[in-house]
Amino acid sequence: QIQRALRSLCIPLERLHIMKGHMMQDMCKGLSRQTHAQAKVRMLPTYICSTPNGTEKGNFLVVELCQNQVRTLLVTLYGDGNMSPQMMYKIFDMPEGMMQGDGEALFDFIAQCVSQFLAETITPDTCNSEERLPLGFVFPFTCRQTQLDKAELLSWSKGFSCSGVVGKDVVQMLQSAINKQELSHVDVVALMNDTVGTMMTCCTEGRPCEIAVVADKGSNCCFMAEAYLVETAEETSGRMCVNTEWGCFGDDGTLNDILTPYDESVDEESSNPGEKRFEKLVGTLYLGEIVRHALIALTAEKAVFTGTDIAVLKEKGVFTIQHVLDIINNEDGTTDVKRVLEVLGLQPSERDCGRVQQICRAVVGRAATLHAVGLAAILSYMCQTRDMETLMVNVGVDGELYKGYSRFEEILQSVSRLLSPECLATLLPSRDGSGRGAAMVTAVALRLAAQRRAVNEVLGPLRLTRADLEKVQALMRQEMERGLGKHTNASASVRMLPTYVSHTPDGTERGDFLALDLGGTNFRVLVVRVTEEGISMASEIYVIPASIMRGTGEGLFDHIIDCIVDFQTKQNLMTQTLPLGFTFSFPCQQVGLDKALLLTWTKGFTASDCVGHDVVQLLRDAARRKQHSGLQVVALLNDTVGTMMSCGYDDPKCEIGLIVGTGTNACYMEEMKNVGTVEGDQGRMCINMEWGAFGDNGCLDHIFTHFDRVVDETTINPGKQRFEKLISGMYLGEIVRQILLVMTEKQLLFQGRVSSKLQTRNIFQTKFLSTIELNGLALRQIRTILKELELDASFEDSVLLREVCQAVSLRAAQLCAAGLAAVVEKMRENRGLDRLSISVGVDGTLYKLHPCFSQNLQKTLKDLAPNCDVSFHLSEDGSGKGAALVAAVACRTA
Ligand code: ADP
Ligand code: MG
Repeated sequence: QIQRALRSLCIPLERLHIMKGHMMQDMCKGLSRQTHAQAKVRMLPTYICSTPNGTEKGNFLVVELCQNQVRTLLVTLYGDGNMSPQMMYKIFDMPEGMMQGDGEALFDFIAQCVSQFLAETITPDTCNSEERLPLGFVFPFTCRQTQLDKAELLSWSKGFSCSGVVGKDVVQMLQSAINKQELSHVDVVALMNDTVGTMMTCCTEGRPCEIAVVADKGSNCCFMAEAYLVETAEETSGRMCVNTEWGCFGDDGTLNDILTPYDESVDEESSNPGEKRFEKLVGTLYLGEIVRHALIALTAEKAVFTGTDIAVLKEKGVFTIQHVLDIINNEDGTTDVKRVLEVLGLQPSERDCGRVQQICRAVVGRAATLHAVGLAAILSYMCQTRDMETLMVNVGVDGELYKGYSRFEEILQSVSRLLSPECLATLLPSRDGSGRGAAMVTAVALRLAAQRRAVNEVLGPLRLTRADLEKVQALMRQEMERGLGKHTNASASVRMLPTYVSHTPDGTERGDFLALDLGGTNFRVLVVRVTEEGISMASEIYVIPASIMRGTGEGLFDHIIDCIVDFQTKQNLMTQTLPLGFTFSFPCQQVGLDKALLLTWTKGFTASDCVGHDVVQLLRDAARRKQHSGLQVVALLNDTVGTMMSCGYDDPKCEIGLIVGTGTNACYMEEMKNVGTVEGDQGRMCINMEWGAFGDNGCLDHIFTHFDRVVDETTINPGKQRFEKLISGMYLGEIVRQILLVMTEKQLLFQGRVSSKLQTRNIFQTKFLSTIELNGLALRQIRTILKELELDASFEDSVLLREVCQAVSLRAAQLCAAGLAAVVEKMRENRGLDRLSISVGVDGTLYKLHPCFSQNLQKTLKDLAPNCDVSFHLSEDGSGKGAALVAAVACRTA
């Protein structure tokens, strides 16, 4: 019988694995918004989003409500890694009956304790009486917390049942009571339970502690979870401490197959049968009871205490945890066992003593093992959700069982290692209980609040309100009108260049075309075949040597003809004369579809005798010089137009082109009657807005920040392309870098240390923003990026860096949306429509690859232009395909 009893208390390894799996499932259930109401493992958010980093400094008051006592504590931190805080404390006994009395009286009493404690401990040299004194409140009851300093009591426990408190904000109640004591310099800034306090106590410099296990009368655990997984709280970035409240694990039956008849008896006799099943297996309040019921059962089976009276064992609670610990902690012999049992009034034989000891060991060993199962579940969960292959983490441990049972630590360590071999947990004993930890929480909360204010001050100017965006939209509209006006065009910052493209494709275009693409990252020659089955292309990339870019115009265009000939030869096209479209992405004053005067070279080109000349003519002249007679240039176009046209082939509603790549620009179909710079009133024409220059006349000065001005001043074209410099890929990384420099200087990042790499211009690439803003699991990649920049980043640095990137890319997307809103609203008005349904063809790597840019753009646009339904299509090879289609449309309409 003894062997059977012992076996029932011993859980096989595969069962432990299954339990760990159940625990992890329940944890997920508790965190999910949909399922947390039914979850047994409650996973309560604590709103504690950081652990101490050792810079915390100042005086902190702690009040802890315990069984029959109020403990007060004053902790002084010196910003020295929290190695040696100074602490003063005093414990007050509660008057008889207070735990069951009036709630307000309870809080008044707590406030009086605080008042008395301060009167006794605070002298002018411990604390400046003018100074505000932050207070942390340790309140070990189940609360619905909605902020660090806002927590509604859900239910009393541990013998408390004061009236008028359940459903109220207990922080508010304590603050009111404190104010009544004329302690108005005391601010209640944080509320927490004792588990969280334990975790915080174990944190010292360079050694964050991210899990706490308290193995006491009850049992509980908390850990730092990824905040976005805590769906019941608003926080989405960084981490948040979650109070698991794992005592109720198993209340839905998941533990049934390991429960023994003794556990069932303990549960039946408890005040809350069926509840807190896990706690009743592991809490020290219950371990003596389990042993007692085991002994009763074994006596009935005549396996122990044969021939002696065990009536004394029938009384609930006679066998305490202290008895159990005394029995098992003595490794050699049974003299202690005999003494304990005799004190209880039993007359054990030598054999009884041995067997009682075996039972006690099994019950307590099982409790330690089950703690390890819970810990293993937390460890694996953290490892998985942090996307790590191995997790190294410190675990604070406290409680009667941990302190009283010599093998607890060893079992916790070895079993959790067995169940979660991918994790390496280092157990740290908690010093000074939860009080010091509460002071730390309070200190961290104040540090974070101060940091938050400073961060908001830096990022504030980048955050645009809806009114700001409406103003940008109105200004864009105004500049558009000026750019279109015959007499105002010269002074407009948005140049609104006519393109002589009057029609978008209708899908009936057919034929073979040549296309040239000059002015993007590469020079290309293409052949584009537009057939009933769709569009197919072949292309070749050609290098333009620097000597040719900067030589003579004749040399450049001769080289282009050589490339075309090479391409035509390779493609076997020499015998045909194909219509050619030329994507030429430099600013041009177009005077016809095939006539465009170069206004200025950019992007490193300086070929002579081109500016002011017709680019198409320069190409034709070169063809003549090279005796290439089979060239028929029908159109020259900008890359925005190509983008619009290539999407327009599949979607007739596509009448806008947008580019957000190295630079940004847009084009759209305008009514001819509005285009003051071109003769004629019939039909429409595509307008190349050149909106990158929006604001170059000063109209956007009010939204430029310090960072924008610095970035502008260090470019090769200061004062030019000001709108583009807020939006496009060439600049966003540099804006972020400028912000990082300022934040580091203000000690908000990287512990105030800037690497020399970070001081290098353009070292922070815009593609980093895409990686950094990718939600969830990208923190490791963020570290990698920062390492590359020789920056040693903490977790909090990574979170703040993400916030900076988000602010910069969000503003870019919103500004782009404000510009587009002006465009679509104008088109809607042009056409006299209540609602406009339209498509935008988009190109550019920033738009395509950034994880949030396109969503932010579309969301803002919807908001700013509610009467327009705008859909976005990615263009594929707009420069090549678009050039062919412009040529095709030109041939068709001709
Ligand atoms: P272009 O505009 O010259 O035709 P792209 O459309 O490819 O070229 O845009 C290039 C720009 O895109 C670069 O300036 C770069 O900063 C940016 N970029 C490159 N990769 C990414 C990325 N993953 N996320 C966001 N931006 C990127
Ligand atoms: Mg491009």
